[in-house]
Amino acid sequence: MMLLRRFEIHQPSNVAEAVQMLGHFGEDASLYAGGTELLLAMKHDVLRYKHLIDVKVIPGLDSIELYDGMIRIGATATHRSIERSAPLRSRLPVFTNMESLVANVRVRNTGTLGGNLCFAEPHSDPATLLLVLGASVAAEGPQGRREIPMDDFFTGAYETCLGRNEVLTGIHIPLSTRRWRPAYVKFQVHERPMLGLALALETTDDGETFCGARVAVGCVSPCARRAAAAEGLLTGPRSQVERNLPLAAEALADAAELIDDQQGSAEYKRHLIQVFLRRAFLKALGQN
Ligand SMILES: Cc1cc2nc3c(=O)[nH]c(=O)nc-3n(C[C@H](O)[C@H](O)[C@H](O)COP(=O)(O)OP(=O)(O)OC[C@H]3O[C@@H](n4cnc5c(N)ncnc54)[C@H](O)[C@@H]3O)c2cc1C
Repeated sequence: MMLLRRFEIHQPSNVAEAVQMLGHFGEDASLYAGGTELLLAMKHDVLRYKHLIDVKVIPGLDSIELYDGMIRIGATATHRSIERSAPLRSRLPVFTNMESLVANVRVRNTGTLGGNLCFAEPHSDPATLLLVLGASVAAEGPQGRREIPMDDFFTGAYETCLGRNEVLTGIHIPLSTRRWRPAYVKFQVHERPMLGLALALETTDDGETFCGARVAVGCVSPCARRAAAAEGLLTGPRSQVERNLPLAAEALADAAELIDDQQGSAEYKRHLIQVFLRRAFLKALGQN
């Protein structure tokens, strides 16, 4: 039988207090939001903490706001509240659609976007999409606040660049006024996705040329990755980009450093990237 060891829950009234508590309790403490990952790991005795600092009670840390061409999602906003946010759905449907497919409704009701990113489990949907949306995250720690581009946030499986006493406070997504067409596609057989692929194409007025491209693949390796070589192949006249899709998929697979795991072999994942890049391309152009 799996049993949780005894722990104490602390409820800070603001982020500064949470940072202080982390410093005070040191290695015996962890931040705690929805608990969907943390409590499971503690039940399995993979992680042991005597003190959990509940960031979900911090007022305002779960807000979703649109301002100055930017969406700001508070770290403790749940997947469900993001999925159901009407302003977010109208301005960035690719994100609310992705959120509506995360896990199941029980996990989405409790699990937070901040917890998803900070746990850095390799099979994360939001991580991959946020990379191509040009997002950044805000963190607060003993040295003050800082903004971290998503490209720099993940350092490996279950690893981020956050310091031990830093709290993630929000996720910032620019609302591009340019003609970016984003798409997110995923493939899932078991509890977590086997592949997530995000693409954003910047089109000219007539839609016949792509003057910019961002592409990332996740769930197939320790952390989601963009691939500059693939992005180059996805830029140019539409007909040429369409012909380049197999080469771009190869470049994306090369950059991803694919691994064999329980979800499938590296070779199989390479094949999936071929299939799903084409699907994402058609989806970005509204053709499926
Ligand atoms: C059955 C199941 C299926 C799932 N399927 C999917 C899926 O299909 N796609 C997907 O993307 N994800 C999936 N997940 C993962 C899910 O999205 C995460 O479990 C959830 O978002 C984690 O959030 P949480 O608030 O529960 O984090 P917690 O468990 O509370 O915390 C996780 C970690 O993040 C740290 N943390 C939390 N908040 C902060 C903060 N503000 N600042 C710094 N550190 C913080 C904690 O210290 C802890 O280490 C699944 C999970 C389960 C259990």
